[in-house]
Amino acid sequence: MKPVRIKIFCPACQYEEEYTHPMIECPACGHTYLNARYEIEGDLPWPEALKGRPGTMWRFRELLPLHNDVNIVSMGEGGTPLIHSQNLGAMLGLKHLYIKDERQGPTGSFKDRQASLAISTMREMGINEAVIASTGNVAIAYSAYAARAGIKLWAFIISSVPPEKMREVTIYGTELIKVTGTYNQVKQVAARFAKSKGLFVDRGIRSIAAKESMKTIAFEIAEQLGEIYGPSPGGAPWRTPDWYIQAVSGGLGPVGIMKAFRELEAFGLSEGLPKLGNIQSSGCDPMVRSFHAGEEEASPILNPQTRIATVATDVPGIAYKLLRQDVLEHGGAFESVSDEEAYRALKTIARLEGLSVEPATALAFAGLFKLVRQKAIDPDEIVVINCTGHTFPVEKHILGGDLGRDVDVRPAARADIPREGLLTALEAVDRNINRVLVIEDDPAAAQLMKRILRAHGVKEVFQASDGRAGLEMVRRTRPDLIVLDLMMPGVDGFGVLDRLKKDQALSNVPVIVVTAKDLTAEERRRLSTQVEGLLQKGSFIDETVLEDLLNRLG
Ligand SMILES: *Cc1c(COP(=O)(O)O)cnc(C)c1O
Ligand SMILES: [Zn+2]
Repeated sequence: MKPVRIKIFCPACQYEEEYTHPMIECPACGHTYLNARYEIEGDLPWPEALKGRPGTMWRFRELLPLHNDVNIVSMGEGGTPLIHSQNLGAMLGLKHLYIKDERQGPTGSFKDRQASLAISTMREMGINEAVIASTGNVAIAYSAYAARAGIKLWAFIISSVPPEKMREVTIYGTELIKVTGTYNQVKQVAARFAKSKGLFVDRGIRSIAAKESMKTIAFEIAEQLGEIYGPSPGGAPWRTPDWYIQAVSGGLGPVGIMKAFRELEAFGLSEGLPKLGNIQSSGCDPMVRSFHAGEEEASPILNPQTRIATVATDVPGIAYKLLRQDVLEHGGAFESVSDEEAYRALKTIARLEGLSVEPATALAFAGLFKLVRQKAIDPDEIVVINCTGHTFPVEKHILGGDLGRDVDVRPAARADIPREGLLTALEAVDRNINRVLVIEDDPAAAQLMKRILRAHGVKEVFQASDGRAGLEMVRRTRPDLIVLDLMMPGVDGFGVLDRLKKDQALSNVPVIVVTAKDLTAEERRRLSTQVEGLLQKGSFIDETVLEDLLNRLG
């Protein structure tokens, strides 16, 4: 590795000194938000030097603020896949939608990167007991890494953190303190406790280690996009996406991400900065409210209402100012979505992409749906969404306990049990909708619908590519549901509907219309009496309708 000098830099007064240990404030002006800066002899030897290094976030060692490798506490964090979203992308009309799958960290969230660098830094400083405040995932990740490093941890968490997450924290041996109050109050209690005991307290976004760790997500994204799309237009080997979208609580993620893209640009590795999509829960959205009110400083949310504890930061502090500046200068958005929208999105992405995420992560997806609906995102833009955390079993109190159906087949072996009991039980397991007919002339759209239906357990999916063939097939196959395109050659969707509704034997088959057509009020009125659902194709399939469809299938 080339010699790198790490400087600590004060953005308020430009004071700079050699980075020897984490500082709480600028010695010159007292500012408490400091940055790391890297001076490298010659060029940064990326991408060449990265080849052959282990696939963790520590590959990007040159731009991480740790002095001695012996202090690294690592268990494979980073190096997560960038997954091209095919089904969701097709539904949203986005060709270049990518999911950065941060669920695949050792404790299931992107906080693993933060924990790895923060705990390594603590080890380098000789700290063996520390205090943190958390909305859940930092406590889990730090606990795991602290355990490996032999550091005793005190975790102060907001009491609304799901019990399953608390269990994770305590299993590593961490002392867990549940505080009833807002997250800002939790932080104050933790700081007071640390002070009274003379212990080191992690400073979240004001900690250099925390912020620097997040950069590795952006380094990987740029490198992965470079592999997919080739060099940037100006010749830099990697690529910056057009959008980076994340569910935001304290804002550490996007702040670190933007610092990384700035560094990549400065070192000639990629070009430009992404537009940030900062998504919050409408029950606790101080950044979104303040941004739309034109405020330079975020106003706190006095009474947070979200059930998603992970993102319950009521007082966002410095991150808001930085992110607001980025959005004003480089584009992007601050949006909020409701918890319910997040739960719906959670199911949609699980069913369409095979990704089970925690509700906080689902907020980002619900926010993406909203941005697409607002036409804020161009269909040709490269969009990366951070899939920040795995659901594990944690949120079942929110998602409901209605998980699967039970069938007890033991009595079947005994002659004295009436047969009806078993048959009835088995029937209940059977889905109501087993046969679906897709009447659609566009082969790609038909293919997508078929894939989705099959993914949801529909046993038989038939397809017809025009109205006449469709009607004939309805009579022949007697489907439980028809998915119908409106614009087809010959007999179009309206024609199909008219004929179906006139035929007594077929008039009760539910129909879902999928269309790319801009409907007139008259057409809408007509459809509303004839169909069960309406999906807008090509641009965006409204997720509530999709959810309706999925529920009907489930
Ligand atoms: C921490 C966290 C967030 C919010 O991240 P910040 O960048 O700190 O605002 C979102 N999702 C999950 C799963 C998290 O753990
Ligand atoms: Zn200063």
